[in-house]
Amino acid sequence: MILIFLGPPGAGKGTQAQRIVEKFGIPQLSTGDMLREAVAAGTEIGKKAKAVMDTGNLVSDEIVAGIVSERLDQLDCKPGFLLDGFPRTLVQAEMLDSILAEKKRELDVVLELKVDEEALVFRLNNRIAETIAAGNEVRADDNEETFRHRLSVYHEQTAPLIPFYEKKGLLKEVNGMASIEDVSDQIHTLFAELENA
Ligand code: ADP
Repeated sequence: MILIFLGPPGAGKGTQAQRIVEKFGIPQLSTGDMLREAVAAGTEIGKKAKAVMDTGNLVSDEIVAGIVSERLDQLDCKPGFLLDGFPRTLVQAEMLDSILAEKKRELDVVLELKVDEEALVFRLNNRIAETIAAGNEVRADDNEETFRHRLSVYHEQTAPLIPFYEKKGLLKEVNGMASIEDVSDQIHTLFAELENA
């Protein structure tokens, strides 16, 4: 199964992605994580990406599409994979279409996690407090001001993907305001429907 997780920052994509990974045994491809690894490793891509990421803006379409395309060639992606944080612009969505066509793979479903945005700011502040309490380092782009900017970037650049995938008949909505368990249940129900379709 090949699926995309869409939704604003902090909507819970990472949490749900982790659960899908465990249950279905397909890898989670988070471009945010891959970019943070490149930053930590000090690669050329990492150096270019860091400044952009810290402000909450988007890294170039070519860079992220390149990382994803390479990652898809690894063996663990054979049974399928979950894209988290990619595509994030219409250009990336078009690039993904060509990458998949070239690799003779097909997208099965796009899950849109729908959430109330003020609740997201509340969740973010909780996440920061928990990270500090656990003695871990808070991400440079995890503060309320940058977060609000990431939300506006989401609206301008990523939200247009919703009608894009709706037209292709691939979009499924999930209510992201429910509890973690309930959101997982909604996702499992959708998967079961897809398998029986
Ligand atoms: P979030 O917590 O908002 O879901 P991510 O961890 O997915 O954030 O991404 C963090 C940052 O990494 C983004 O704000 C952006 O700068 C960069 N990034 C991640 N994925 C992409 C992408 N597909 N295109 C461009 N930039 C990206």
